[in-house]
Amino acid sequence: MTTTRPDTKTALARLLTEIEHRNPAQPEFHQAAREVLETLAPVLAARPEYAEPGLVERLVEPERQVVFRVPWPDDRGRVHVNRGFRVEFNSALGPYKGGLRFHPSVNLGVIKFLGFEQIFKNALTGLGIGGGKGGSDFDPRGRSDAEVMRFCQSFMTELYRHIGEHTDVPAGDIGVGGREIGYLFGQYRRITNRWEAGVLTGKGAGWGGSLIRPEATGYGNVLFAAAMLRERGEDLEGQTTVVSGSGNVAIYTIEKLIALGANPVTCSDSSGYVVDEKGIDVDLLKQVKEVERGRVDTYAERRGASARFVPGGRVWEVPADVALPSATQNELDAQDAAALVRNGVKAVSEGANMPATPDAVHLLQQAGVAFGPGKAANAGGVAVSALEMAQNHARTSWPAARVEDELAAIMTSIHTTCHETATRYGTPGDYVTGANIAGFERVADAMLAQGVI
Ligand code: NDP
Repeated sequence: MTTTRPDTKTALARLLTEIEHRNPAQPEFHQAAREVLETLAPVLAARPEYAEPGLVERLVEPERQVVFRVPWPDDRGRVHVNRGFRVEFNSALGPYKGGLRFHPSVNLGVIKFLGFEQIFKNALTGLGIGGGKGGSDFDPRGRSDAEVMRFCQSFMTELYRHIGEHTDVPAGDIGVGGREIGYLFGQYRRITNRWEAGVLTGKGAGWGGSLIRPEATGYGNVLFAAAMLRERGEDLEGQTTVVSGSGNVAIYTIEKLIALGANPVTCSDSSGYVVDEKGIDVDLLKQVKEVERGRVDTYAERRGASARFVPGGRVWEVPADVALPSATQNELDAQDAAALVRNGVKAVSEGANMPATPDAVHLLQQAGVAFGPGKAANAGGVAVSALEMAQNHARTSWPAARVEDELAAIMTSIHTTCHETATRYGTPGDYVTGANIAGFERVADAMLAQGVI
């Protein structure tokens, strides 16, 4: 057990105040920085080289932040102006890597929180990828394919000069799936006149994409939840599970839960949630969401008597053994956590980035619930993105079974690393501390070796 010198804690508290001061009106970034820094005191005290002046200060400052105008005409010829972002946070371990989010709530603070999380997540995969994130306040909902294409082309017309297979490799996130990656890749190829497959991941399987990439985040989170349960002598089979969201991560979470014999009974979107007593029919959900681009109330209508749509509700009120938040940040607060605990939840594993508020995490951990933080639990997506880059580099394509085996091995390794690191620093079972410290150690070692840059 390591004790913490009071001066380390004081220095970290001072740095947090400075972060808030220097990055005003960015509450999500403050929250993400606080969550990491508050767990680092033991490692800074135990390893004096990490307390070197300027190391943590460099880690919380992005290497580069790009903000740009994205004008695009809609189908009636009216011009809209959105704002585009790419935050290149840390490249000590490899090219910046992280998704693009298109959602009206996007601003610089949201992209910085996501980019900061991505540094540690990518480090935990053990692969050679740095941390970055980007996106726009563009809302793709209700837009025609032609409008989405024009937006993506305008976005890439600026972004292309900042990215590259050895520099910065974006992928998808909320609002950016296979369709958007296709339009973005097409415009990059046109502008640069290069077939540079490794510049974006999440591509279609026929043109440089990796098999299992669409499934990877959801599948990986289920494997992480299963590993946490195994640690407690249990497994997922027969467990009632609540999942929020109905996008890429939620759908493949549900698919994997069913494959492992669990019973996922919910999905949701920003209008409410569906509870399905017979368990979610994942093929119907895919048809409604991925093919028709519809809403979850349509799923309930089509499913018949077993399913009902609860407008405005939150899935956390449905009794469950395991909860897998897979929609967005801060979607599970202390009240929701209390409801989960009251209903006997055993494990909560974050498919989304930072879906549980700090109060909720505290409450779950105090109640003895196994809690998997997103930077560990949802790292399967970026891990398979890195495998996609490897396949692109070798101009080859691996069979699905090989990618799935590699994904499983990576998730097992992340679980073990987090578990062992937490134990080493005197907080056994605390995956938040384990993930933060293990990710930090790998990035900090690389930063120290590469000098003050
Ligand atoms: P999608 O766009 O495919 O789906 C997002 C889902 O979340 C939709 O059901 C959406 O509902 C819901 N949602 C989004 N914003 C809100 C909101 N403000 N309030 C309520 N519901 C909301 O995104 P993904 O599935 O790709 O991403 C989900 C989460 O997983 C995000 O936190 C993302 O950062 C994280 N993640 C994704 C990875 C990936 O590989 N895609 C990798 C690692 C993490 P609605 O349509 O009503 O907005």
